[in-house]
Amino acid sequence: MGAQRILVLGGGFAGLWSALSAARQLDQLGIGPDTIEVLLINRDAFHGLRVRNYEADLAPLRVPLEAVLGPAGVRWLVGEVGSIDLAARTVIVLSEAGPQSLPYDRLVFALGSQLLRPPVPGLAEHGFDVDTYGGASRLADHLGALAERPEGPGRFTAVVVGAGLTGIEAACELPARLRAAQERAGLAGPVRVVLVDHNPQVGSDMGESARPVIEEALAALGVELRLGVRVEGLDGSEIRFDSSEVIAADTVIWCAGMRANPLAAGCGVPTDALGRLAVGADLRVEGLSGVFAAGDSARLALEDGHSTVMSCQHGRPMGRFAGHNAVCDLLGLPLLPLRIDWYMTILDLGPWGALYTEGWDRQVVATGETAKRTKRLINGERIVPPLSGDRAEILAAAAPVIQRPPPLQPQGGQP
Ligand SMILES: Cc1cc2nc3c(=O)[nH]c(=O)nc-3n(C[C@H](O)[C@H](O)[C@H](O)COP(=O)(O)OP(=O)(O)OC[C@H]3O[C@@H](n4cnc5c(N)ncnc54)[C@H](O)[C@@H]3O)c2cc1C
Repeated sequence: MGAQRILVLGGGFAGLWSALSAARQLDQLGIGPDTIEVLLINRDAFHGLRVRNYEADLAPLRVPLEAVLGPAGVRWLVGEVGSIDLAARTVIVLSEAGPQSLPYDRLVFALGSQLLRPPVPGLAEHGFDVDTYGGASRLADHLGALAERPEGPGRFTAVVVGAGLTGIEAACELPARLRAAQERAGLAGPVRVVLVDHNPQVGSDMGESARPVIEEALAALGVELRLGVRVEGLDGSEIRFDSSEVIAADTVIWCAGMRANPLAAGCGVPTDALGRLAVGADLRVEGLSGVFAAGDSARLALEDGHSTVMSCQHGRPMGRFAGHNAVCDLLGLPLLPLRIDWYMTILDLGPWGALYTEGWDRQVVATGETAKRTKRLINGERIVPPLSGDRAEILAAAAPVIQRPPPLQPQGGQP
């Protein structure tokens, strides 16, 4: 009999850490890949730091999978997961070599989420996004090419649709990005960024303590608001609202809503309103045998009455426990329950700084440059896998434990 296989679908925060955690547990048990192999499938050869897609400099946002999985002894394959046959325990993957049917003994579903794109006229053709690295790159190329565009009323105007966390982060970066584009054209003058939402307020989930901070930052950066309006259409040079207003804008960035990977809905078990698979504390998908799920495609009820949210904050520990438990399940060992007892948010507010809140009611802990130092620590270190190539360091980082909340960073201090 050949090696048994733990197959991890997705190389994002949940998938990468699932695979590494499975490799760590096998290593601890002294089991080699000739007995149980870990195989990860991802659309491309990179672990994408998706949370940073709103930034202007995209260079640090992609970690080669081989740099982390190679030293850990995890095999990986670039391919598009096409379908899953749960009865036959196989996954169809479309890779350069053509379609392949990959058998598994345990499956970890970590295919993440994607931006919800409603059928708004012109959105598919003219809308930009920061949902994926590809989307963020297209936006960066477009902004870079504004200097060569013919003069027009919306040339240096950007409209961001969706004033949730992603939209706010994108909007806060845009005044500086548009000014840089303008300077490249040898021009000066006002740039315009408009943040739009059908809700009557920005950051609708952020609560009364945090919202004034966000509003202050947006105002300081000169970001205009259009709240309580819906987009009726866009055509690449203007955007129309149901309020009858038309804004001339060459750049429209859609940031309104996320849904779990559609393959989750094909698993034949109920999904929640966001399309997520229900998992128990051991990350097993409820109603399926041999299948674990983690990250944005999974919903775990937390003990305080809340559920995991689509976030790397939850996706990373979910991944670490899913991979560990997939190994234990295969070997008949006890599974570890994931219990997360804290929640925080750090929202990047561009050159203004950031906002650090604690708890589900989002009490403000720090703002401005103080919070920004912690945001930099998260984006630049905490969520980045070890790049040393050191097997022991990489496996140790994948231990199934819950990190404590990120500390506030003293000025000029080290993490
Ligand atoms: C701009 C932005 C800012 C964000 N800011 C924050 C933040 O500050 N804090 C926070 O906690 N969260 C934030 N998030 C959310 C966070 O990025 C996600 O919750 C997180 O990426 C989820 O991890 P995941 O592994 O489940 O999915 P993903 O990171 O999306 O990874 C899924 C992987 O699966 C691959 N894949 C998908 N479908 C297929 C297929 N069919 N075949 C093969 N491969 C496939 C994808 O290419 C990807 O590599 C932000 C998101 C965005 C877009």
